[in-house]
Amino acid sequence: MHLHDSSLEVLTQAVVRYAIDRVRLDPPPLDGPRTLAELRAMAGRTITSHGIGGLEALRVFGDVLAPACISVDHPRFLSFVPAAPTEASILFDLVVGASSIYAGSWMEGGGAVFAENEALRWIADLAGFPAAAGGVFVSGGTAGNLSALIAARWKWRHDAEGVHDRTRGLMVASQGAHSSVAQAGRAMDADVVLVPADDAGRMHGRDLTSTIDGLSAHDSARLFAVIATSGTTNAGIVDDLAGAADVCERRNLWLHVDGAYGGAALAAPSVRPLFDGIERADSFIVDPHKWLFAPFDSCALLYRDPRIAKAAHSQQAEYLDVLQDDEWNASDYAHHLSRRARGLPLWFSLATYGTDAYRFAVETTLSVAHAGADLIRQSEHCELVLEPELSVVVFRRKGWTAEQYRRWSEDQLAAQECFVVPTSWAGETVLRYCVVNPLTTVEDLATILDSLS
Ligand SMILES: *Cc1c(COP(=O)(O)O)cnc(C)c1O
Repeated sequence: MHLHDSSLEVLTQAVVRYAIDRVRLDPPPLDGPRTLAELRAMAGRTITSHGIGGLEALRVFGDVLAPACISVDHPRFLSFVPAAPTEASILFDLVVGASSIYAGSWMEGGGAVFAENEALRWIADLAGFPAAAGGVFVSGGTAGNLSALIAARWKWRHDAEGVHDRTRGLMVASQGAHSSVAQAGRAMDADVVLVPADDAGRMHGRDLTSTIDGLSAHDSARLFAVIATSGTTNAGIVDDLAGAADVCERRNLWLHVDGAYGGAALAAPSVRPLFDGIERADSFIVDPHKWLFAPFDSCALLYRDPRIAKAAHSQQAEYLDVLQDDEWNASDYAHHLSRRARGLPLWFSLATYGTDAYRFAVETTLSVAHAGADLIRQSEHCELVLEPELSVVVFRRKGWTAEQYRRWSEDQLAAQECFVVPTSWAGETVLRYCVVNPLTTVEDLATILDSLS
């Protein structure tokens, strides 16, 4: 340990070789889960008093552990929200790890934070946020939503000048809101009231208005934020953001837009109009580890007025006294302190390929997803459940039971064909695919549809 000798050279070659070979796999193996008992038996004892050695640990990882993880970047991994990090972003993730950067403060990590902020600015410009906007990369949408909503509550209490310091807050969210919004409510000890959505799962301004008007006087005094979703996880539907912004402006409410999955489509001119109104939000998140081709873990969290986030989040302590208050200390903008410069892989990839490549890649996934929807429209045995908006397509295999969907999905994974799991829509078990990988082709989707006949 901490020795620069010849065995370090050997280990360096082996680890870097492994990483490069993995990046080059086209496609990577889909792989699949193993039980705890299987892994115990196959991996053996790896933590010992003398160490098993780096080469042996790397062998166990490559032969046993990695194959027990489904490759999220496989072009036929279409469940949940997959990922498709660019080669440049993955390689730079190795550099971030090697560079021992503390990216919480400007004093320690200013160079890294500068570059992260360049990437954040690109996203802010796509959303039409003002020049003063800013934020930080956090681990994921769950952390981003929580941090944004804590800032919203801080502002509400601050504006109330003490009247609400002990009032339990209340937030209003669309019915299609991600589970992390309810989780934020639990963490903050705040209530979440859901706005009924239309048949596609979209929240409209008028329904938001009637939900808020329907609150008791007590509840409406506790309301501090509205959460709209720009790309629901289950169906990829974008709420009426302009309608939500109108309501929030009239009632002086914080508007948070959760674009963890769909926010990436701001880069795609073909669907950009769906996001009109986002420029009026107070905070906004998008996960580069979902549809902006960055490795885990990465959520871009942006505030219209970052001073509010700083007031809500910055930690004070004797050992932090040396940090300059007038510098951009990235820790100040979310619920965290120490942080990896997790925005750097996105920055490096944007710098490498240019933003046009991002627009093109997002448009590619959208057209493949929509061409797949056309195949479903034409098919005898399947039909669309909803008209797709972004790159999620929800459809049914006519006549199938939940058990048939489940068995088909397991068989497909076991045969290493695809990873597509059922979801449910209005109580019915259905299928769903989500395309975020520019290497997914229409032929991939056609093969999957054929296997359902
Ligand atoms: C995925 C997702 C989240 C949660 O993001 P994590 O990065 O998994 O924490 C939040 N909101 C939406 C809309 C999502 O799709």
